[in-house]
Amino acid sequence: MALHVALFDTKSYDREYFDAAPAAAGLQLRYLEHRLNESTTVTAAGAAAVCCFVNDRLDRTVLARLHQAGVRHVALRCAGFNNVDLAAAKELGVTVTRVPAYSPHAVAEHTVALLLTLNRKIHRAHNRVREQNFSLAGLVGFDLHGKTAGVVGTGKIGKLTAGILRGFGMHVLAYDPFPDPVWAAQHKIDYVPKLDLFARSDVISLHSPLTPETHHLVNEPSLASMKRGAFLVNTSRGKLIDTAALIGALKTGRLGGVALDVYEEEEGVFFEDHSDHVLADDELARLLSFPNVLITAHQAFLTREALAEIARVTAENLQRFAHGEPFLEGTQLA
Ligand code: NAD
Repeated sequence: MALHVALFDTKSYDREYFDAAPAAAGLQLRYLEHRLNESTTVTAAGAAAVCCFVNDRLDRTVLARLHQAGVRHVALRCAGFNNVDLAAAKELGVTVTRVPAYSPHAVAEHTVALLLTLNRKIHRAHNRVREQNFSLAGLVGFDLHGKTAGVVGTGKIGKLTAGILRGFGMHVLAYDPFPDPVWAAQHKIDYVPKLDLFARSDVISLHSPLTPETHHLVNEPSLASMKRGAFLVNTSRGKLIDTAALIGALKTGRLGGVALDVYEEEEGVFFEDHSDHVLADDELARLLSFPNVLITAHQAFLTREALAEIARVTAENLQRFAHGEPFLEGTQLA
């Protein structure tokens, strides 16, 4: 019998790429539009596996309820796994897999797209030109060439971002508790202590995972240590930044520009159309009011290549779970 999988928080593009994945052919995929949380676990009824995304909540209570309903596998269709209580999953005997690297290029390229757009004010220029306003006042940017970039977290995405920035002729500083000195030497990148990176960089880009150590990595003291007018880009996880402190630093002009693909309280806001509603989040509303803040709604991963790879790896792991085979190498978390 085909493995019954409940897929939470799915959009049209998820369905398109999962239906096209060869390994999905023998699976019974049930696409759900709502997110997984305590009150929606009941909708997994009948499924032996669930497939989840970044804003589905897989805490101990949810996992216990899923287990009670007969779910024995969680297939995350993302890289980050800070939303899953892995210890609880292990205790319950629920296996968990993720897609560790679907397209680090997609995220690195979006990071640089945000930086270029923000610096050269392309978003504002685009709006102006459409209104036949061809004035250039207020659109002055700066050359990236010769400036210093600081990359926090030199895993797959951080390394690619650093490489692109080197291509612009930037000096690149890096911080990572697990540095890769061979890569750094090859690309002429200097590992420095975190505070040095903050103090010396014109552009800071965050690429570390969300852990207890990285929670609010950018906070009042670290913002105070940054160069006046520095640019900050975050395509990693929203909770790496203390939003209240960020707003403070924007108001004083400490930060020259901020580009975010992720936001501390994005859950319940991002990925949905709220254009007909009053925005209840005052901090997000304040961020949207700054002319030097650019926000995209967690879309850095959204390329054809990444979606196809996410569907391929996830469907393949679901097949392997169905047949009691080992999961694809490097994908199992619990
Ligand atoms: P990775 O695991 O390859 O790299 C993470 C790096 O961060 C590692 O080198 C690790 O040593 C380092 N790190 C760990 N603790 C740190 C700390 N305290 N300070 C600084 N660095 C630290 O991960 P990746 O594939 O490069 O992804 C990075 C992050 O990007 C993911 O954790 C995820 O949150 C985010 N992401 C976002 C999107 C998006 O669409 N916006 C898509 C994919 C991934």
